[in-house]
Amino acid sequence: MVAILVCGSLIWNVAAAGRWSPADAAPQAADAPREEQAPPPPPGNPGAQPPATPPAAPPPPVDTTLVSKVKGEGKIVALTLDDGPWPEWTDKALDVLARNDIKATFCMVGQQAKDHPALVRKVVAAGHALCNHSMTHDTNLKKRTPDAIRAQMQETLDYIHAASPGTPVHWFRAPGGNWSEEVQGTAASLDMRSLNWTVDTNDWQKPGVAKMLDTVHRQLGPRGIILCHDGGGERTQTLAMLEQLIPQLKADGYTFVLPQP
Ligand SMILES: [Zn+2]
Repeated sequence: MVAILVCGSLIWNVAAAGRWSPADAAPQAADAPREEQAPPPPPGNPGAQPPATPPAAPPPPVDTTLVSKVKGEGKIVALTLDDGPWPEWTDKALDVLARNDIKATFCMVGQQAKDHPALVRKVVAAGHALCNHSMTHDTNLKKRTPDAIRAQMQETLDYIHAASPGTPVHWFRAPGGNWSEEVQGTAASLDMRSLNWTVDTNDWQKPGVAKMLDTVHRQLGPRGIILCHDGGGERTQTLAMLEQLIPQLKADGYTFVLPQP
């Protein structure tokens, strides 16, 4: 009997803490005393029943600090692809990632998501993560009013979700890396962490595959985040670089991961 009493008490305590509802509790023994099957009513409110579902605690606030390294141990690396989705080049980037069996984070521009919703869905369907990269790729975002900053982020989220309802967008990346407290705080208020990088391939300047590979191999360390582009124009060099870089980093002991907020 003692064991049964303890068990009944435990069941209620778990339910009261919000991890279970009472309906989820295991059936109690038929001979358990009635007073152990339900808690006494709260003082001053006779007859009231406890709520079936305790009110949820507010979610923890999103950290506003810049993320420049991925969470985790060892030789892990994250690849990020910015400024898409872009016809032809996003498809080709997806092919490279699939051939090499890695996942990446696509920092999408809202206007591009609006114009190419099927590409948004294709990126999501392939298991890659999404990052909000503002509606118009405004590199002066931090100089805008708080309302304008929020609108750039919210509109992008709206178009991503119009294309792919329910897809999580845990990240924001300021165009040009032009961060500010206002930008990072606004992103956090929309449940997005600010995703920076550690290695910039400068691929958009088309410096040549060898130069880009050299940059990455010199600058990359464990938990690094690599920046390159699937959007913004033709990306032949970027894709040629990735075809070599991914197997090289794997051979060097790196594992590609998605950053965790
Ligand atoms: Zn960009």
